[in-house]
Amino acid sequence: MKKKIFVAGMHQESNSFTALMSEKKDFDDYWEGEELLRRMAGVKELQDAGYEVLPGLYADALPGGILKLEDFRKMVEEMLAKLPTDGSVDGVFFPSHGALEVEFIGSGDAFLISQIRERVGADVPIAVTLDLHANNTYTLCRLANIVYGYRTAPHIDIEETRIKTAEMLIRALEEGEKPWTEIVRLPFMMPGENMMTSSGIGKEMIDRLGEIERAEGVWCASFFAGMPWVDCAQGGVSIVLSGIGDKKDGVAAAKKLGQEIWERREEFAFQGVSMEPKEALLALDQGGIFPAILSDSADNITAGATGDNAYMLKIILESGVKDVLYAAMVDRPAVQKLCELNAGSVTDVSLGRTMDEKSEVVMLHNAVVRETFCGEEGPEAAILEKDGVTILVFAKRLPVPSEEVLEKYHLKLSDYRILVVKQGYLTPALERVAKNYIMALTPGNCAQKLTLLDYRRVRRPMEPLERVADEKRILESYE
Ligand SMILES: [Zn+2]
Repeated sequence: MKKKIFVAGMHQESNSFTALMSEKKDFDDYWEGEELLRRMAGVKELQDAGYEVLPGLYADALPGGILKLEDFRKMVEEMLAKLPTDGSVDGVFFPSHGALEVEFIGSGDAFLISQIRERVGADVPIAVTLDLHANNTYTLCRLANIVYGYRTAPHIDIEETRIKTAEMLIRALEEGEKPWTEIVRLPFMMPGENMMTSSGIGKEMIDRLGEIERAEGVWCASFFAGMPWVDCAQGGVSIVLSGIGDKKDGVAAAKKLGQEIWERREEFAFQGVSMEPKEALLALDQGGIFPAILSDSADNITAGATGDNAYMLKIILESGVKDVLYAAMVDRPAVQKLCELNAGSVTDVSLGRTMDEKSEVVMLHNAVVRETFCGEEGPEAAILEKDGVTILVFAKRLPVPSEEVLEKYHLKLSDYRILVVKQGYLTPALERVAKNYIMALTPGNCAQKLTLLDYRRVRRPMEPLERVADEKRILESYE
């Protein structure tokens, strides 16, 4: 009889500063049964190695607010209902994110792994894949045998990392090993923008993970930049390693690299150009190199912000800069209203502050409705023109990661000088088409300046919130 491997995961990056709460319906990818087997990277490798893969549930949502407890519970119940409890499971493959924060629970990933461990017993290897922006807990590392993280930001190695994790799980099963996982935590946080991996210190430190992996018994080592916009005890940078036998050499190598990362922490800085919002806009406008992209970094939908903050839009409209495409504002009531008007209509409409009362709102007078998109599923999007600025408005939170999204709404990047997106660092697709790019340091739920945010739960001291002087805090571990 074939050995059985259970596969499940819950992939969402939380942002605890947004007023939004995440719900089950936000998990657009909801893979079960055959679909999970077909789509999850790593499953084929497990099957090819002769294992029977039992699909649990893999739910994936756009980054958003803390997940409501009731919704989490429903998904956990669905996932666990698929997990046999008769002792027939030989291994668990858990591709997840690692920065899922659940109402009243904390780390959703640690909770899920604890529930799975409780059901499969102490001897079944559990292999976990996490995002580079995971906030790791001692609990998860204690309960999982293998933890392996993405090595690229922007993430272009998700599938590859999952496959490697599956292969390590196979190795554990074939060799009858039960690997350990250890974590070394560092007391500093940083926005993802400070840890890109194509060059600079981000690349160097990822490359140097090999120094840990060469230590006796170590199977894999990962560096996690963490997700700073979740205010939680486990926030901050960490190094995680998994291996077999004596941990001593591996942990010592992780601490050695950790010490160097600590000493060079100031080098983790945004590698592109960042400026105060108005300055950024004017610099792109006067720079004369188009198309230029400006990112409204604190209302970054891809890091969990609401997308309803008109702060940057207001500055653009007041500045008189023209040929700007603003993509996009999120405002359902506005789209609903605009969908009742014909193209070419002139109207007054307010944009922003529909989800988060801390967001700015802007009132547009005599804006022209260019086009609306109102399908069978209700109002989807609308396009407004106001004083040389084209504004794409979405009824729900959606990122604009590429030109294709613009084209879907009949917008062409080449018609504009400046495109404004609600992101931090650009996606590879936008980076390729941007002739010029500046990140605007807007205020909001994903503020690049972490000192602007009101942290209450993250362990202290924590840089950059205050200086860490206590030597003992610098390389925390629990081995
Ligand atoms: Zn990430």
